[in-house]
Formats: sequence, structure tokens, C-alpha cells
Amino acid sequence: MIDTHAHLTSLEDPDEAIRRATAAGVTRILTVGTDVDDCRRALSLTERHDGVFAVLGIHPHDAGTATADDLAALRDLLAHPMAVAVGETGLDWFRDYAPREDQRRLFAAELELAAEFGKPVVIHTRAADDDTLAALADHAGTVVLHCFSSPRMLPTALERNWYVSFAGNATFPKAVDLRLAATQVPAERILAETDSPYLAPQPVRGKRNEPANVVHTLADLAQARGEEPAEFGRRIEQNAAECFSLP
Ligand SMILES: [Zn+2]
Repeated sequence: MIDTHAHLTSLEDPDEAIRRATAAGVTRILTVGTDVDDCRRALSLTERHDGVFAVLGIHPHDAGTATADDLAALRDLLAHPMAVAVGETGLDWFRDYAPREDQRRLFAAELELAAEFGKPVVIHTRAADDDTLAALADHAGTVVLHCFSSPRMLPTALERNWYVSFAGNATFPKAVDLRLAATQVPAERILAETDSPYLAPQPVRGKRNEPANVVHTLADLAQARGEEPAEFGRRIEQNAAECFSLP
């Protein structure tokens, strides 16, 4: 199994979490860096652990303080062989931690980096569906909607062949709309993630999340889709390998 989106560097002991994931059968993890220093830490984890790959970006929350030097540094880091995607990037009108104009500018710059490197882009969008779709209108590369929580975006996502990645919030009892969305994504476009340390899935809800818990999300999604969990897990691994060009 694979966890396609975790923030290993935000866990107390990433090495232990990786070991627990391996023991649970989660043998590949994409860890996401959210600023330049965090991206460096993410890359160092990929160097120490087989099966760990890095997604590198500056988070929209940090758009207000991101400098041109930060973008240049990110560009250098993206040349690393274990950097498989750009992100997470996008727009967050819910938290509004950074001025909207800065978020838009950073998002555009990171989309350019994804195009330049020919890598997928991992999208964070909250309460900004229409603006996110508009920003992506001319983006021809591979797109992953991470921690999918906007069913309104699904028709466009499917039309444009984007990957749709579900996190632990899709396992919450009230998330009927997200499980319905999960049944509508074609088999070759669905992904699953933990978004550790956030959003622990239902059986471990409220605890600090970690990649081993992706098994719960996979089981729930498989059940919603009427598929056999082990086979569904393999399918997600295949999709991730294709999406992120994993070895
Ligand atoms: Zn994330």
C-alpha cells in the first residue's frame, strides 16, 4: 500500500512512523514539504528511507512571506531525483492565513515550476473552488486534488482527467457526500492519503495521524466502491506509481 500525502516532518518521530507504516504494509510514502527548510528535511528523509518520496512546495498559508529567493531555492530542490511533484499549492480562502493576492501569485509560480519540470502538481484548495479551477484552466500537466473535500469540483476534475485523492475525512460518518464522490472517480484516477499528522480516519479519529492509518481509509473507500480492499490498495499503488512516475 501507499500513502500519497503525509507530512512526515511534522511527526514527532518520522523514522518510527515509517517503521510502523512498513509493518502495516504501507511500503511507500510521499512526504510533503511546505516551505524551503521543510522541503530540505523531506528530501533528507527520502535519502534515509527506501520507499519515501518527496513532494516539494511552499504552502498557500506561507504565501505572505515567501520570497523570490525561496522560489529559487525550491526550484533547485526540485531537481533532486526523489522530488516527484510540486505542491501542495493552491488557494485557501477558509483560513485566509496569507493575503489572497500573494496566494494567487505563489500558486501561479508553482504551476510554472510544475510545467518546467514536467512534474504533477498537488493542489490544496479550501473555500476557493471557482478561483482554483480558474487558476488551473490553462495548466496542461498532471493535477492531483489532495484531501478532496469539494464535490462541486468533481465534474471538472473528471472531465480534465485529474487525480482525486481522498483522506481520513472521507471516513467520517457524516461524510456521505465524499464517499459518494469516491464512487464516481474512475478506477484509474483515484488516490488515497493520510495527510498525517492531520485528519486521522474514523477508527483512530482524534489521534495524531500517521501513514500506517491509510489502511483504514483504503478499507472505507473500497467498501464504498464495492471493491475488495487488497485489490483496491494495489490499484491505488498503481495509480500513484503512474501519476508520480515512481520506480
Ligand atoms: Zn498536506
